[in-house]
Amino acid sequence: MKYLLIFGLTVAVIWLWQNKRRSSLTDKARPPKPQQKNRTRKLPATEIVACNVCAVHLPQAEALIGGHGVYCSDAHRRQAEG
Ligand SMILES: [Zn+2]
Repeated sequence: MKYLLIFGLTVAVIWLWQNKRRSSLTDKARPPKPQQKNRTRKLPATEIVACNVCAVHLPQAEALIGGHGVYCSDAHRRQAEG
């Protein structure tokens, strides 16, 4: 009876050990979780330029291009170029 108990305990330990090992192996085999989709929408690539007068940064599409550089507004363009 005593030996049966020891045998049963050994089997249980081996079974638990193998179960643990198998689960850790499948964890390794499993591909890494796909990264969550970036919630921040990617803005279309626009060139950012700095105003020659006040150095404010703005998209090139909104900038005024003068003879001596780019400006944030017509007022700054006139201020710089007269
Ligand atoms: Zn400016």
